Amino acid sequence: MDRSHRVVVAIASVVFAVLAYLSAGGLRRAVPPTSPPGSSASGLAGGSERDNRVLGEIDLARLFPDLVLRQGDVAAKNVALTFDDGPDKQYTPQILDVLARKGVRATFFLIGNRLAESPEVVRRILAEGHAVGNHTYSHPNITTFTAQDIERELRTADREMSRFGARVTGMFRPPYGAVGVSSVEPLARAGYSLCLWTVDSLDWRGLTREQVINNVLPLVANGSVILFHSAGGPGEDLSGTVGALPVVIDDLRAKGFKFVTLPEMFPRL
Ligand SMILES: [Zn+2]
Repeated sequence: MDRSHRVVVAIASVVFAVLAYLSAGGLRRAVPPTSPPGSSASGLAGGSERDNRVLGEIDLARLFPDLVLRQGDVAAKNVALTFDDGPDKQYTPQILDVLARKGVRATFFLIGNRLAESPEVVRRILAEGHAVGNHTYSHPNITTFTAQDIERELRTADREMSRFGARVTGMFRPPYGAVGVSSVEPLARAGYSLCLWTVDSLDWRGLTREQVINNVLPLVANGSVILFHSAGGPGEDLSGTVGALPVVIDDLRAKGFKFVTLPEMFPRL
């Protein structure tokens, strides 16, 4: 190989490595997982898994069109705002304030072991008519978990939410949007619907209000599910989300969109 060929091969290798890293969930946010439920804390998969590939939201929806909920009816001018990682005492109440002021109901994917720390916030989410979904009990990266271990996380979180009178819908959003392919069908049989999104605000990166707005508004279409966060890891700044939300709501409303919760968008929930 001459020098120019070697350079091409080297560049190709780097590009391939970056693509492999990204497709494996690289550069996703790192919310530190807290203590998982039960004794089988590690939850590492055994050797029985048929297919342990980890796919992003687009490929998962393609592979399991009947099991993955990602986009609503494209013939209806509906849009769903979804908020992960709550509740907390800092940002979730501010987001609830905006939603109440604007008369919008949204869907909150809650982390089970955060409920006991902010019970008044959970009660408020439910009293104000929002839907709640399951974002696991301890927010682990479940890509190496067996379906059984994931189900244990989900059942534990369901119990926490039931204590507040939340309707258990089976709506499940995996932390970091990542789940092993082999877990999707067993979880569906256990009554869980994998709820992903079509528009990612990337708000967890501590973006400005303008950046959050620009990540969302140009991409919204009929049936869009928009991903935001209502809480984060220590020191995470979601003031961009709080600032962007009124603008996003006003703009979409002016364009004729109606805001719905995920159970309203997906009748099977
Ligand atoms: Zn999360």
